[in-house]
Amino acid sequence: MNHTHYAHLPLPEPLKPCIDFHGHLCPGLVYGYLVATEALRLFGERRSEDEEMVAISENDACSVDALQVLLGTTSGKGNLTIRNIGKNVYTVYSRSAGKAFRFSRKSIYLYTGDEKALFDELEEKFASGQATPEERNNQKIMKAMDLLQKSVDQVFEITEAPIPAPAFAELAPSVACTQCGELTMKTKMVKKEGKLYCQECLK
Ligand SMILES: [Zn+2]
Ligand SMILES: [Zn+2]
Repeated sequence: MNHTHYAHLPLPEPLKPCIDFHGHLCPGLVYGYLVATEALRLFGERRSEDEEMVAISENDACSVDALQVLLGTTSGKGNLTIRNIGKNVYTVYSRSAGKAFRFSRKSIYLYTGDEKALFDELEEKFASGQATPEERNNQKIMKAMDLLQKSVDQVFEITEAPIPAPAFAELAPSVACTQCGELTMKTKMVKKEGKLYCQECLK
């Protein structure tokens, strides 16, 4: 699905390319969107063409796709580290600002009145595994839209953080593994009796 599927919803412009890349609208994507737009504002930067910024995500979920689209911290450039310890925590570092910020999620969903009744009902169905795919999807959209109505500091605790240790892509020559012959980055190889092997062959 691309963002036009959600044309009935008031979506901020920068979220639209995130939906196109990710494939759907969900609360996780909105977490990433909030972190990325706030980091760009705090650093006064634009999307990284190279490795101007570095992001470290402490989960491997939907949010990471918004970081890739908006911050340009991508898995291919090596300026995105996924340290999956199951936390909704992100650290973004800017080389030019010489600063890092840590975003730690603090929000819960706060509905009132009719919306709350509907939300609670869906949440209960969801928890008991009785929700239909459509209801599950509605729940995702409702959570996403709820987050979009909040300010970033209602959703995240934002603090300045120590600059993360070398978070830049390594460049190293590739050499052929002694056993399988496949070209492997030298720094990722293991030495045995003076010969270099890929990690797969020396398992
Ligand atoms: Zn998602
Ligand atoms: Zn090998």
